[in-house]
Amino acid sequence: MIDFEIPAEAQEVRERVRKFVHDVCIPAEAELQTRPYPEVLAELRTKARAEGLWCPFIPVEYGGMGLGPLANALVQMELGESHLGALSMNTQGPDDATMLTLLTHGTDYQKETYLKPLLNGEKRICYSMTEKAAGADATGMQTLAVRDGDNWVLNGEKWFSSGATAADIAMVMAKTSPDAPRHQQFSTFLVELPNPGYQIQRNIKTMNPESELGEMMGGGHAEIIIKDLVVPHANIVGGEGQGFNMGQHRLAYGRLRHGMHNIAMAQRALDMAAKRVLERSTFGKPLAERQGVQWMLADCASELYMARLVLLHIAYKAEKGLDLRQENSIAKVYLANMVHKVVDTAIQLHGALGYSQDTPLARWYTSIRSQRLVDGPDEVHRWTVGRNLLKAYKEHGTTASMCGGDLI
Ligand SMILES: Cc1cc2nc3c(=O)[nH]c(=O)nc-3n(C[C@H](O)[C@H](O)[C@H](O)COP(=O)(O)OP(=O)(O)OC[C@H]3O[C@@H](n4cnc5c(N)ncnc54)[C@H](O)[C@@H]3O)c2cc1C
Repeated sequence: MIDFEIPAEAQEVRERVRKFVHDVCIPAEAELQTRPYPEVLAELRTKARAEGLWCPFIPVEYGGMGLGPLANALVQMELGESHLGALSMNTQGPDDATMLTLLTHGTDYQKETYLKPLLNGEKRICYSMTEKAAGADATGMQTLAVRDGDNWVLNGEKWFSSGATAADIAMVMAKTSPDAPRHQQFSTFLVELPNPGYQIQRNIKTMNPESELGEMMGGGHAEIIIKDLVVPHANIVGGEGQGFNMGQHRLAYGRLRHGMHNIAMAQRALDMAAKRVLERSTFGKPLAERQGVQWMLADCASELYMARLVLLHIAYKAEKGLDLRQENSIAKVYLANMVHKVVDTAIQLHGALGYSQDTPLARWYTSIRSQRLVDGPDEVHRWTVGRNLLKAYKEHGTTASMCGGDLI
């Protein structure tokens, strides 16, 4: 039997979050035009905390809501409707994924010193792995860490460290054991910012128009020179040589979070498209009455529906502690392309208005393009998925287990 019933507690929390996003976060978006961001955010966070909406997937004993994978997925699928949604409940990227990694792999000292202020919303953390020298194949990273007594000294460069200019802590990957097997050469360091050894050169200009507000919200992507950066040995997370394991740990959730927020964004874009075509007439008829337009909306609805099912299935597997790596890769690619298509369709149906900055669609469009690159580009995930598929065929004479076949 397949049970699609959502437990009552998960439904209840989803409803509360939906209401909060609609009643509080979406109206606050407009306030950002006239009031300072820190003030608006502080107010949102006070309201969220007062309603018990804080760090959804963090255990209760650490001050979070203690939601399991399914309830968290349902909540995150609501939060993505507003760019203030996740921020209001302190579950925004890239911080969220690192909180999880510190929770699982941090030492007591790291939890007390670094995790606690993150969970309290007092500090933010960025992740510095990618270098100009290496991205998709991160084993090409050149930043080197050399042991010096109780410390390590790091030298190298990083780029596209999201949120570095807004962060108080950076999680930095560097090579600690050049002679070890490829995936054991790197370690992950917690670095307090600002730091003379972690020199932020600039926020890189991207296709997403930069704004001071965006950067404050953690939206900038920094280029960094790492010069004689001294980090205590006690700040290595998960042990020496475990950098890739730590990276995979945080990226696994990060990929899903993007996907969950994509569903909310796509839903809002599709709602906007539906409203627009009902209101707008061309050639003597509302756009909504054109079959061609209905097909465009129908294609978006199909993708959004499949996207929801994919995520809910992954949440189900996560609840049961089942291996979901194949599904995670499939979902990462599918959800990034789904949101791209839905937002693009919404822009098309809004005409020039969609291209303007008078709706959020244009900003969404330029920001989500990155999702086909980050957390592993599409091609790398498809490569993994294809390899797993062939392996399954060789082992079982069918590829079914690698494409959802374990459902039946
Ligand atoms: C908006 C944004 C935010 C980011 N935030 C962060 C961050 O916070 N921290 C961080 O460390 N990094 C971050 N990154 C970097 C991101 O993780 C890298 O861009 C990504 O890993 C790809 O690396 P690359 O850009 O060097 O591309 P490359 O490694 O040069 O790859 C280029 C292209 O080659 C293709 N390709 C690569 N390998 C294969 C293969 N095996 N088979 C087929 N095709 C392949 C893909 O199409 C890929 O897009 C961010 C990037 C962006 C755009």
